[in-house]
Amino acid sequence: MDYKDLANVIFPDVKDISYYEEKYPKRDLKEGAIVTRFAPSPTGFMHIGGLYQSVIAKKMANQTGGVFFLRIEDTDQKREVENGVLNIVTSLKEFGMSPDEGMIDEENEVGKYGPYKQSLRKEIYQAYAKYLVEKGCAYPCFCKSEELEEMRQKQEAAKERTGYYGVWSKCRHIPVNESIERIKNGEEYILRFKSPGNPEKKIKHHDVIKGNVDFPENDQDIVIIKSDGLPTYHFAHAVDDHLMGTTHVIRGDEWLSSVPLHLQLFQVLGFKAPKYAHIAPIMKEDNGAKRKLSKRKDPEAAVSYYAEVGIPEEAVDEYLLNIANSNFEQWRKQNPDAAMEEFDLQLNKMSVSGALFDMVKLLDISKRVISKYTAAEVYDKAISWAEIHNEELKKLLEKDKEYTLKVLGIERGNIKPRKDIAKWSDLKENIIYMYDEEFFASSRQYEFQKINDKEEIKEIIESYISKYFDIADDKETWFNKIKDLSEEFGYARETKEFKQNPDAYKGHVGDISTVIRICLTGRANTPDMYEIMKVLGKESVIKRLEYAIK
Ligand code: GLU
Repeated sequence: MDYKDLANVIFPDVKDISYYEEKYPKRDLKEGAIVTRFAPSPTGFMHIGGLYQSVIAKKMANQTGGVFFLRIEDTDQKREVENGVLNIVTSLKEFGMSPDEGMIDEENEVGKYGPYKQSLRKEIYQAYAKYLVEKGCAYPCFCKSEELEEMRQKQEAAKERTGYYGVWSKCRHIPVNESIERIKNGEEYILRFKSPGNPEKKIKHHDVIKGNVDFPENDQDIVIIKSDGLPTYHFAHAVDDHLMGTTHVIRGDEWLSSVPLHLQLFQVLGFKAPKYAHIAPIMKEDNGAKRKLSKRKDPEAAVSYYAEVGIPEEAVDEYLLNIANSNFEQWRKQNPDAAMEEFDLQLNKMSVSGALFDMVKLLDISKRVISKYTAAEVYDKAISWAEIHNEELKKLLEKDKEYTLKVLGIERGNIKPRKDIAKWSDLKENIIYMYDEEFFASSRQYEFQKINDKEEIKEIIESYISKYFDIADDKETWFNKIKDLSEEFGYARETKEFKQNPDAYKGHVGDISTVIRICLTGRANTPDMYEIMKVLGKESVIKRLEYAIK
């Protein structure tokens, strides 16, 4: 009896690997094209780190004329949840990260290298496992979980490395005849890889992100096929990324330490190893210490969070590119209008340690992204968000669509568009004062600034209404009149004049504008006041100003 007999007993009717090698030929891509993938487990939770990986993987594939595919890693069936795949597919789609190949919903997929769901690839893994058994590079292990546990305790007590290796790899030495007999007798077993490694020796690995790293060779006889017949992550990774033609494995750096094992698997299986790019996780500052963004503690760890608060997906994608390559920011300054797809992402420029998640920065990017939308785009996107998340905003936007479009159009479409909207959940607060009904219905404290003497304010506003305000004025005339008004009350026409000669004036034109602005809107900070007046219209402006001084 030899390894071939053993292989036939374990896998009596799987295909020869040559069948799969032919079925999945090498991809016909142009020189330099990169094939990447996102390979999540369908746990029902999409972590921002998964989106981060996808943004990077998709970008690298697109930039090089390659392929980005989605593979569902569902070999750990205990962790599965209903609609887990759909959740991933939908999230990717929402963020514009749909793959070129892979699952498109719970059941269906596109692409020639499938199935793209590991649980449907059982016989493929078994074919390769059989091949390893035939070569004497894998063997059945009959150890019970209690035995393994006992072994682990012994190893810990003796301060030795834990695992199944060297003298500890009991079943490695069982003669083939005996294994065959035990299998025929119905004894339970799993399959282990017979590692050829020697931990005294080092392997040199060049990681595209982490650079050169040395590791001791792997000597663990890891499980490759579990008792349910499904592969472990490690084995499936080697078989799938080989057959699917992945050139660059871009994944979380928690896998970096598995590289020696993975390279060994590729070698023993006779596969060309892919390049590895291990991404540092996105971190969070917590009481002065850095830690990974946590699913449990941080709402922003879930990609669903961004839709909930109404941060446009585009802004999130752009933020992720921003943390991927620190030169992105510079590029964005130089190319304010370019689509982010035009940025040339480089894996070797990614930071080796984890970037800190910075919400302020993300909101800044979001403000910029929203500032580029037309009023109609803002309207449509905000309404779609409000339909699900904020009934009041929806009502406000729909009450008078034409008027709302004017409100949203304030300081938009010009060189320096308004950048005061960061997320749709802020929009109501941002524009509500523009609606007379809401404005007069809510009580407000006018918080005046430099000029705060009630009598003076009253006189300024009265004079403004009676002598200066004319809704038909063009912007220059309008502003000149506010300067005239300033002069009338002893304020400098220009800030500069005031600064040069502060004792000659009570203040400057800015102080007068602020008084008008506060009376008009109840706020000290608003977009351009001229445009606001134009949108409000004559009647509303006068009504608001008179109301304020009452
Ligand atoms: N299913 C693995 C995970 O979710 C994939 C790792 C990889 O990209 O290879 O961590």
